[in-house]
Amino acid sequence: MTTKSEWRQCEACTAIILREHAVCPNCNEEIDATADIPKELTGTITAFTTIHIAPEKYREDAPYTVVLVRLDNNTNVMGRLLHGQSPVQGSSVHLDYFSAENGPIFSV
Ligand SMILES: [Zn+2]
Repeated sequence: MTTKSEWRQCEACTAIILREHAVCPNCNEEIDATADIPKELTGTITAFTTIHIAPEKYREDAPYTVVLVRLDNNTNVMGRLLHGQSPVQGSSVHLDYFSAENGPIFSV
């Protein structure tokens, strides 16, 4: 379930990005494939939406909440909120775990 290896951190701008990227979408620097993500990620919810009618692939997950999180290093990452939690814009969140299919799962 935990797939930390799917993600890594850009050394140039500290953005958290999918490992499949060869170039950082945030700063356009080439990515060092050996860079790893920090153990702890904290930030603030800047936007969110709850998906009630999901694409086929995620149908069994619905309803689920997608959050845009501004991390403490001032980069943005998209993820989900832990199932059952209610999002509030501006509330603090921390990384709960990484999911292979859904990316970072945050908890308030
Ligand atoms: Zn970067």
